[in-house]
Amino acid sequence: MKKLVLLAALTLMSCQAPVKEENPAPTFGIVIHGGAGTILRKNMTPEMEAAYRATLETAVRTGYEILKAGGTSQEAVEKTIHVMEDSPLFNAGKGAVLTADETIELDASFMNGATLDAGAIAGVQTIKHPITAAIAVMEDSPHVMLSGKGAEAFAQAQGLELVAPKYFFTERRINSLKRVKEKEQQTAWSAEEWQDFKNQKFGTVGCVALDQAGNLAAGTSTGGMTNKKWNRIGDAPIIGAGTYANNASCAISATGWGEYFIRSVVAHDIAALMEYKGLSIQEAARVVIHEKVAKLGGDGGIVGIDRQGNIAMEMNTAGMYRAHIDAEGNLTVKIYKDE
Ligand code: ASP
Repeated sequence: MKKLVLLAALTLMSCQAPVKEENPAPTFGIVIHGGAGTILRKNMTPEMEAAYRATLETAVRTGYEILKAGGTSQEAVEKTIHVMEDSPLFNAGKGAVLTADETIELDASFMNGATLDAGAIAGVQTIKHPITAAIAVMEDSPHVMLSGKGAEAFAQAQGLELVAPKYFFTERRINSLKRVKEKEQQTAWSAEEWQDFKNQKFGTVGCVALDQAGNLAAGTSTGGMTNKKWNRIGDAPIIGAGTYANNASCAISATGWGEYFIRSVVAHDIAALMEYKGLSIQEAARVVIHEKVAKLGGDGGIVGIDRQGNIAMEMNTAGMYRAHIDAEGNLTVKIYKDE
């Protein structure tokens, strides 16, 4: 009798309730940035703009194809960042900005949201793909962060690709350093000049991804800031500042004026607002960028994704190179804030 009642109830329910899909397609997605700053239409040629958009698309499609085929968010982040590290357009790998000593010092970090494992390298001069070195630190060393010559010796021992420092140099960054050094001599600044000066400094790359298994990952790679001195290290290789991933909340990669991003612990702060206060990724990103970083006087932005595939691309600058592909394959590529 009981069984009959149950059966009747179930039949009734199945008539009334909307039909639920048995196996909804797993969601996944990928978001990238290629740096935030005073990126204005008036300073951009149509050719430059097209080149940026094309490379952003190639990069984001690289990771998307990996995710679509069932690959991990870690692999998607690494391979996507390689595309941007290999492109002279961005301030990471080839085309990185120069230090005051006319050298190149690269920083990168990676975090796996499923395990909370993380790796980072700082101030390296010969590692072709700094993001891969950061992942190697995570996987093949007992440490989280290695720097300078030691990080390079580690990379060599791991069989990672090393290049002569000149590989990273580009005409454009050599000229930027000259301009920044000249400007530094200047004592009075107009607001516009100050914006232009700051514009010389941005261009980090980053990627966050959600794979079909529901795992998040984040990675960031940079040459830091033009004219940096004294082995300065920014937020990009600092877990919690420039990069953070946790399946309990989100994956975040930041770009901007690193000192402010370190002091605001940007990436972890966004994750914490989501985990402890239940904010959405967009709301958490908005609070941290506009109410924390901006109030301190810092500039920059973030990209982020959560486990439902919701994304954030937040900035308080005039622009941020950025792109997104969702699980349905919808592509977004944007440069200016007002797009
Ligand atoms: N955040 C980087 C740094 O301070 C720079 C950037 O994003 O462009 O090293």
